[in-house]
Amino acid sequence: MIVLTNTPSYVALLFLSVWLSVWLKKILHRSIAYIAKRHQHFKNEYALLVAHNDALKQKNADLKNALEKIIALYENAKQICKYLEEEKVFAEFKNHLYTHIEIRDCQFIKGEIDISKFKGYIVLPLEINKAVIGSLVADGIRDVDNETFQILSQQFLLAIKRAILYQKVNELAITDGLTQVLSRRYWFERFSEELERSKKLGHTLSCLMIDIDHFKEYNDQYGHLVGDSILKEVSRTIKENIREIDIMGRYGGEEFCVVLTETEKEDAGFVANRILQAVQQRKIVAYDETFTITISIGIAMFPGNAQECNVLIDKADKALYEAKRSGRNKVCAYLGE
Ligand code: GH3
Ligand code: MG
Ligand code: MG
Repeated sequence: MIVLTNTPSYVALLFLSVWLSVWLKKILHRSIAYIAKRHQHFKNEYALLVAHNDALKQKNADLKNALEKIIALYENAKQICKYLEEEKVFAEFKNHLYTHIEIRDCQFIKGEIDISKFKGYIVLPLEINKAVIGSLVADGIRDVDNETFQILSQQFLLAIKRAILYQKVNELAITDGLTQVLSRRYWFERFSEELERSKKLGHTLSCLMIDIDHFKEYNDQYGHLVGDSILKEVSRTIKENIREIDIMGRYGGEEFCVVLTETEKEDAGFVANRILQAVQQRKIVAYDETFTITISIGIAMFPGNAQECNVLIDKADKALYEAKRSGRNKVCAYLGE
C-alpha cells in the first residue's frame, strides 16, 4: 500500500527533476547566450573606444604639429619687426610670404585705395588713431594658405605701424636720434625763420642738399649697423666743415640739408667742395672695416633761385640730381632762375 501510494510521487519527482534540469539547461543556455551577447557588445564597445582613442591621439598629434608650425611661423615672422623703414619691413614681409605660401600679388598701398582696382583681392586696412593710412592688398591665396597669410600679414601690419610711428616721432623730435643733427621738421622751421630774417635784412642764403653716393650698397653688403656708423661719421664730417650759425638737418635716410646763412653763391660752392673733399678723405672705420665714402651736393640760392623754402629745397634737390646724374662725388649749383 505504501509502495502504491508512493509511486506517483516518485514519478512526479522524476518528472519534476527532468523538467527542472531541462528548465535549468534552458536558463543556462539563455544565460550563456546573454553573457556571450554582452561580451560581444563590450568587445565592440572596447574596439570602438580604442578606435576613438587612436583617432583622438592622431588628432592631438596633428594639433600639436599645427601648433608647432604656427609657433615657428610666429617666431619667424618676428623678423619682420626688426626694421624701422617701411620699404624694408615690406621687403622682409614679402620674403616670408613667398617662402611659406603661393600668392599671385601683394602690395602695400599708402593712403586711400581705389577698391574697384582690386576686385577679388583680400584688403587689410592699416589704422592708426582710427584713421586708415594704408592697405595691404593680396590676391591669389589658396584656402590652405589662408591662415599662414593671416599670421604673416598681422605681423606685417604691426611692423609697418611701428615703422610709421617711429618715423612720426622722429619727425616731431628736434634732433635726429642717430646723427644728432636737427630733425627734418625742426630744420625746416629754423630754415623758415632764417629765410624771413634774410628777407628783412637783405642777406643772401644758400641751401645745400647732400646725399651719400651708393649708400644702399654699403647697407646691403655690410648691414644696417655699418650703414648707421657711416651715416654718423658723414654727418660729423659735414658738421665739422660748416659754421656754428649754419643750420644742418637730416632730411631723409641718407640725405642731409644745410642752410649756409649770409652766404653768396661762390662761398657756398667753396664750402660745398670743402665738405665733399673732407668726406672723401675721411677713413671711416666701422666694425673692423674701413670705408671711403663719397657724397653729392646740390645748391640753390636765395634770392637768386627762389624766395620760398620749399622751392629752394626743390631746386637744391634738382641740382643734387644733376650731380648724381653726371657721375656723383660732385657739387652742382642750380642753373637758371
Ligand atoms: P645714390 O648714389 O643714387 O644716392 O644711391 P643710394 O644707394 O645712396 O640711394 P638710395 O636712395 O637707393 O638708397 C638710400 C639707402 O639709404 C636706402 C636705405 O636703406 C638707406 N637708409 C636710409 N636711412 C637709413 C638709416 O637710418 N640707416 C641705414 N643704415 N640706412 C639707411
Ligand atoms: Mg637718397
Ligand atoms: Mg644716396
